[in-house]
Amino acid sequence: MSKPSDMPLTDPVPEPPALRAVLRRRAEVAREVWALVLELPEPIDFAPGQFARVDVAPGEWRDYSIARLDGRELTLLIDTAFGGAGGEFVATLAVGDAVSLRAPLGEFRLMESPRPKVFIATGTGLAPLLPMLQQLADQRHSLPVRLFFGCATRDRNFLPVYLPALRSLKLHARLCLTRESSCQAAEFCGRVTQAVAEAGLDWPGSDIYAAGNPQMVADIQTLAARHQARHLYTEGY
Ligand SMILES: Cc1cc2nc3c(=O)[nH]c(=O)nc-3n(C[C@H](O)[C@H](O)[C@H](O)COP(=O)(O)OP(=O)(O)OC[C@H]3O[C@@H](n4cnc5c(N)ncnc54)[C@H](O)[C@@H]3O)c2cc1C
Repeated sequence: MSKPSDMPLTDPVPEPPALRAVLRRRAEVAREVWALVLELPEPIDFAPGQFARVDVAPGEWRDYSIARLDGRELTLLIDTAFGGAGGEFVATLAVGDAVSLRAPLGEFRLMESPRPKVFIATGTGLAPLLPMLQQLADQRHSLPVRLFFGCATRDRNFLPVYLPALRSLKLHARLCLTRESSCQAAEFCGRVTQAVAEAGLDWPGSDIYAAGNPQMVADIQTLAARHQARHLYTEGY
């Protein structure tokens, strides 16, 4: 029997309740990118790729991908370069302050499959990919994993902070820099999409994850369609 067209096909998923976390540590991991380590009042379940919705000012909520969840310690990576309420929140937040947030949220996540994996990010779009990479490292994933990470300048690259935890992965990382005049061997001078286009990927046979700038994500979607990719997962912000 068909449903009347005005009835939702699935029940809306309720937002998780607001939690009162406490800021335990903060560090600038690259220019204008801050890692906030928040202690949750209770453990939560989370799938790598999901995000938290943070109360950054009265009536203002911002979504931040969960970069790491270790017991009750949740790490967010926040780009303060936009000069908005989120950046202001980070600037004024001190260790010991309370932070209201809802988590976990979102459908972006790592798929179980034996296919090769390609990860593509710009800026803090790397945040949701980090726990995915960590999951693969913890599973002793033996296939090579490719990562294309785009930043404007080298001083915005926070990947080195998180690489030691991923050392068991066969990770081939390419840093793509759009505003540097010269690049070293493992780097690419240009847009991440250009590096990906020139990489000779097995588009139909790979799982491809792209997160970050919405224009980059749209460009990757176009490239993926042109190359008959079948397993593309994206989060644009
Ligand atoms: C699912 C999801 C996950 C996200 N995860 C993260 C994360 O892990 N880390 C993180 O830093 N952000 C993340 N974001 C983006 C975040 O929620 C904010 O939108 C962003 O940080 C800007 O917030 P703001 O308060 O600093 O600036 P706003 O007050 O929102 O905007 C200030 C100014 O900056 C401009 N602006 C905002 N965003 C952009 C942009 N992407 N490019 C160019 N100009 C922009 C606005 O148009 C405005 O003029 C995520 C968003 C979503 C939807």
